[in-house]
Amino acid sequence: MSTQPFLPFALPEIGEEEIQEVVNCLRSGWLTTGPKTRQFETDFEAMLNAAGGGVASGNKPVQAIAVNSATAGLHLALEAIGIGQGDEVIVPTHTFTATAEVVRYLGADPVFVDVLPGSLNIDPALVRAVITAKTKAIIPVHFAGLAADMSAIVAIAQEHGLKIVEDAAHALPCVVDSVAVGNLQTDAAVFSFYANKTITTGEGGMVVSRNPEIIKRCKTMRLHGINRDVFDRFTSKAPSWYYEVVAPGFKYNLTDLASAMGIHQLKKAELFRAKRQAIVDQYNSAFENLPVVLPQGAAAHGLHSWHLYVLRLSDQCPLTRDQFVEALYAQGIGCSVHYIPLHLQPYWRDTYQLKTENFPVSQKAYERMVSIPLYSKMTQTEIDRVINTVQSILA
Ligand SMILES: *Cc1c(COP(=O)(O)O)cnc(C)c1O
Repeated sequence: MSTQPFLPFALPEIGEEEIQEVVNCLRSGWLTTGPKTRQFETDFEAMLNAAGGGVASGNKPVQAIAVNSATAGLHLALEAIGIGQGDEVIVPTHTFTATAEVVRYLGADPVFVDVLPGSLNIDPALVRAVITAKTKAIIPVHFAGLAADMSAIVAIAQEHGLKIVEDAAHALPCVVDSVAVGNLQTDAAVFSFYANKTITTGEGGMVVSRNPEIIKRCKTMRLHGINRDVFDRFTSKAPSWYYEVVAPGFKYNLTDLASAMGIHQLKKAELFRAKRQAIVDQYNSAFENLPVVLPQGAAAHGLHSWHLYVLRLSDQCPLTRDQFVEALYAQGIGCSVHYIPLHLQPYWRDTYQLKTENFPVSQKAYERMVSIPLYSKMTQTEIDRVINTVQSILA
């Protein structure tokens, strides 16, 4: 057993700016969705509109809607594009259950496909193969922070008249073909600010879209189907007590307490990414000659957000994944597995009669994969400790 303190697999990096802004919010007396959330949204919009594929490229500006989780955001985006009973939505099997569960919220059915062996992102050829008359949308996931093959997916969607909602929970900031995720030619993208994501508000998410109709519907459904949010109600000229319910909406708004954190986390998103990239560069050179498959980097004109660093034990590696995980834990190093594929999860497997042999890439990756610690706050001592431990276990 290790005598050193346990090194967690993920930790947030929270500065004095976040703490001061939260205190300021508490003192202001306005805790729920209000001025700080509006600022977080406009800052998010400004960041994307200034990024590759933003307004300078002649595109309409994106708008952002803050929500209390990415799961809520995915639900809102799918509802806004009209997904309903009997529709089919194509999702990768190699993802977190939230990607598929939101399809079920609306009475539609997810259709699971395998991923590409390098990126572990949804395989466009397989997407094409499962399209039926019922198919309405595709939810690509930018796994670990590496963008999916979006040019192929956008082409398929255009050919078949399908919508695209990106699960961008890992993808801030992420760039593909010089375009920032959030600015791609899709209907919406949804980011997560869960505690272990690349920036965090504890719990939280953001829906972005260039389509004002989608934004308007998400905004209404975010708060009970009311046609104006609380903030508007207390600042516009209409009587403050008046509102209209136009649909049976949800309770998915983000608090100003969370947005207070988000405002400052967002400013640091690129700094955090650079720090994670520097750790990845050290990991890659340290693990190059070990019996592992290194995670795929971004292609030219792209940027990997490095939410996760996923090592895969190669066929030559004498250890099983479980033995490797046990050895890491014995040395006090936290790790995780992303993901137990949905085709193995009892609900999805049994409801849709999913067979392991139909998902060979995801299955093999799952059996051999481990996500090791990767976060902006890691010290050089901690990075060296992870490197030395992995080398000593696998050498
Ligand atoms: C974290 C995550 C989500 C859900 O995000 P929440 O903000 O926790 O709802 C969805 N999809 C993927 C791929 C995720 O990793």
